[in-house]
Amino acid sequence: MTSIPGGCQCGAIRYAMHVPRVEKPHVCHCRMCQRATGGLFAALAGCAKSKLEWTKGQPAFFASSNLARRGFCRDCGTPLTFAYDAPEARIYVAIGSMDDPELAGIEIQYGLEARIGWVKFCEDVPGEVTGDSPAAQEFFAGMVSNQG
Ligand SMILES: [Zn+2]
Ligand SMILES: [Zn+2]
Repeated sequence: MTSIPGGCQCGAIRYAMHVPRVEKPHVCHCRMCQRATGGLFAALAGCAKSKLEWTKGQPAFFASSNLARRGFCRDCGTPLTFAYDAPEARIYVAIGSMDDPELAGIEIQYGLEARIGWVKFCEDVPGEVTGDSPAAQEFFAGMVSNQG
């Protein structure tokens, strides 16, 4: 079986995604992702929760809202995962934590409402504003942020 490995910068945590290819590689420019990563956007690629195996160590998690948790290495601080709590939701890993980020060329951008004006890249990649559909609006209406 193919698997796609990655891990944190200190090596305490390693994972393998047991899938032939990552699903829905994307960047999210939303403010919550900016703050969670300390970066200009989050770059994430996913798989079914059941397909992600922690092969070394276990991450710590921060519930950035009542809807989602973000995994990170408690030793070195590398942001590692994002997932909504619903069991059927995908789990996403940070593309930069993958051993081969080339495997996760982004297909879509989210959170365009918060894209920083001077962030210019992948401009040919389609994008969405957070809560742009009625279903998404309803989902986010129930969100309570835990970010300070
Ligand atoms: Zn680490
Ligand atoms: Zn986001």
